[in-house]
Amino acid sequence: MARRIYLDHNATTPLDPRVLEAMLPFLGTECGNPASRQHAFGWSARAAVEEARERCAAAFRVGSDEIVFTSGATESINIALFGLARARPSVGRHIVSTRSEHRAVLDVLDALAFEGFEVTLLPVDDAARLDPIFLEKALRPDTVLVSVIFANNEVGSINPIGRVGSICRDRGVPLHVDATQVAGRIDIDMPALGIDLLSASAHKFHGPKGVGFLAARGLGRGLRLEPLMRGGGHERGLRPGTLNVPGIVGLAEALRIGLEEREEECRRVAALRDRLHDELVERLPGLRLNGHPVERLPGNLNLSFAGIDAESLLAGLTDVAASTGSACSSAALKPSHVLEAMGLPRERIRSSVRFGLGRGTTADEIDYAVQRIVEETRRLRRISPAWEALQGDFAKP
Ligand code: PLP
Repeated sequence: MARRIYLDHNATTPLDPRVLEAMLPFLGTECGNPASRQHAFGWSARAAVEEARERCAAAFRVGSDEIVFTSGATESINIALFGLARARPSVGRHIVSTRSEHRAVLDVLDALAFEGFEVTLLPVDDAARLDPIFLEKALRPDTVLVSVIFANNEVGSINPIGRVGSICRDRGVPLHVDATQVAGRIDIDMPALGIDLLSASAHKFHGPKGVGFLAARGLGRGLRLEPLMRGGGHERGLRPGTLNVPGIVGLAEALRIGLEEREEECRRVAALRDRLHDELVERLPGLRLNGHPVERLPGNLNLSFAGIDAESLLAGLTDVAASTGSACSSAALKPSHVLEAMGLPRERIRSSVRFGLGRGTTADEIDYAVQRIVEETRRLRRISPAWEALQGDFAKP
């Protein structure tokens, strides 16, 4: 079979075999519904879910009654943003977020704007990061919530969440953080960082797809969320419906492994990412890094290849899986709103490719990917009038 190298870990990650092992009993004999209180199958499922909840809560330093299991970050974000905005009519109808959020946040904010909320989207710098000064200036007495992405899914830049959290805390505005690209990879102490609500998906940290969680500090005490769905009252009435027991067990195991191994994995993956970057830059003129050079996810490398179209490069790289930005905006074939918010010119946006490295990536795979990317780039540039016109700018001395 032809070789296939997976460098799209920002879109999703392969299931860790240890996670699968933990899930297997709950896909087979342990078939109970955690809501069934009359028999041992139900008790066993409930115990597994509650253990997973404890683990998840401890990881983010919240109480276990502050964890809501969901189908993933998109659902968590919907529950958090609609829930919070609609629950605070006496405070006001103003929401603050940024221009480099994932569509899962921006689309909810569009819907809230349609309902009559006023949404301020703060500008970001040329690395897609928020300057907290803008946040400080944007907050008003009628601001009901702030939502900021922890690390950007396209260019990997990490926001100064501690500063954002302390500003929100000082002004008494609840902060939601989309931590989908960092949960299970870095230690997140929600109270210390001033994060009130946090959304994540297990499949981004080597867990199963279709399961995630919302961590909501003060849920049922100071914090009230208006439910989006009605049903059997599961998950404190915020996410009714029978729980995805194997998924939740897998999520907790993936979280345990991710956090236990994070330092070593982060070092290893960042070294491979730097190798990919350095080798490509050494062999190909006209490459530009998109995103922050230092404050960035260890596995993310977003590069512009001057003179060529990223879609053509990816089409030629049949054996190396990478992408143009986020999975959803690449499906929509629209220019990336994140790269636009960074102020990049159209040609540079069109030539940008995201490589995402992860737990299974090896040095051998990186060397192979370098060779293939160099071959394809050179092939495309030979037939590119745009590259021909740019040649002088990038000629090596
Ligand atoms: N937020 C960010 C930053 C993401 O990267 C993603 C997935 O690409 C999401 C939200 C949505 O996650 P899911 O599709 O698992 O709901």
